[in-house]
Amino acid sequence: MTTTSDTTVHTQPYGNKERAMTSSDKNSVQTRTGRCQTHGVVDGTRKMPRLLFPFIITGALRLVAMTRPYRCPRCGASTGKA
Ligand SMILES: [Zn+2]
Repeated sequence: MTTTSDTTVHTQPYGNKERAMTSSDKNSVQTRTGRCQTHGVVDGTRKMPRLLFPFIITGALRLVAMTRPYRCPRCGASTGKA
């Protein structure tokens, strides 16, 4: 046991790290090539909730997300089929 590293440990804030982890872990992004009316063929993106604890809720969120269109990463317009 050493107490020499105590000061360095406490200077590191925990808040940012935790928030970054939860925000990136909750949603995964699906991409699929689609067609944007403005930009032509783009890699459309769609957020998909990951399966976390209560599975019923996340399962329902995933079902809702699956019905949503992919969106153009540049303008956010829904993309049609490529
Ligand atoms: Zn676009």
